[in-house]
Amino acid sequence: MPVLGIESTAHTASVGIVTDTAEVLAIASDMHRPLQGGIHPREAANHHVEVLPGLVERALATAKLRPSELDAVAFAQGPGLGPCLRAGATVARTLALLWDRPLVPVNHCVAHVEIARVLSGMEDPLLLYASGGNTQIIAYGAGRYRVLGETLDIGIGNFLDKLWIALGGSFPGGPEIEKEALRGSELLTLPYSVHGMDVAFSGMYTAGLALHEKGASRPDLAYSTEVTAYAMLTEITERALAHRRRDEVVLGGGVACNQRLQGMVRTMVEGRGGRSYAPPRSLCVDNGAMIAWTGHLALRAGAVAPVEASAVDPRQRTDKVTTPWRP
Ligand code: AMP
Ligand code: MG
Repeated sequence: MPVLGIESTAHTASVGIVTDTAEVLAIASDMHRPLQGGIHPREAANHHVEVLPGLVERALATAKLRPSELDAVAFAQGPGLGPCLRAGATVARTLALLWDRPLVPVNHCVAHVEIARVLSGMEDPLLLYASGGNTQIIAYGAGRYRVLGETLDIGIGNFLDKLWIALGGSFPGGPEIEKEALRGSELLTLPYSVHGMDVAFSGMYTAGLALHEKGASRPDLAYSTEVTAYAMLTEITERALAHRRRDEVVLGGGVACNQRLQGMVRTMVEGRGGRSYAPPRSLCVDNGAMIAWTGHLALRAGAVAPVEASAVDPRQRTDKVTTPWRP
């Protein structure tokens, strides 16, 4: 039977319904777009509270299902913005009680891995998770998903968005930079900040603005930013593959929709005799379907939570949660 999953960790409220063979029956999403500046957690949470009931109805209608035909209600427990997480969790608890279904908490990062893993058919890939707030290399080992490397300052998506706004562009910056970069030709020198399997972006932000003030064009800046930042991610992914003796990579997160990044990772992995996979956009960005699918895995392993023990955890680390469905 299908599971309904609720995602609300940041700016996107989303409801997905997925069968136990990972067939996606429905995804209904609504993204909070602030009128100006970045997202305010309280405003995003208000948005989620407003839209989630309608998204649940829409997802059920698309999947042509009644609540009694669902196996469980899953929700993203963390990591994320506290008020946003609580909005989704409150809706999930209400539905679980109302429909008398088990409640299944799911880690958001683990959900990105699991949806990509089942879609790719790969047994044990590494995940390059590149989104607004997160930039991590994740691999499974001894009962948990482990973070091998990550950003030491801001997430790559937030970096791209911030830089683009400072250059006079609009939010979200990542896809705009991708378009503008196609018109760039000169590779400008930007700080390349790799520390073992970690990366940092704030130096590139400062240097990008300084170059702009000296007259560097937006297309060249966009091109150089993409090449430099994505080379950093490709390098740490390769290092992680080498250390973990793996040859498969899946991608997840909004920035992972980027064609240049996907191409660079693919070239690197195939050069090592391996394979890479990026889910289609709807399943790569934050979505309820990945929560629903991971809910299935957790449910099968008995990882349900009574309402009173289902508190959200804004700082829930990937390696803090167990994954009893993995051998
Ligand atoms: P997420 O946090 O996973 O919802 O992803 C949102 C982030 O992905 C934002 O920072 C966007 O700028 C970024 N993003 C979305 N599409 C692209 C793209 N095609 N290339 C680079 N970044 C992107
Ligand atoms: Mg995400």
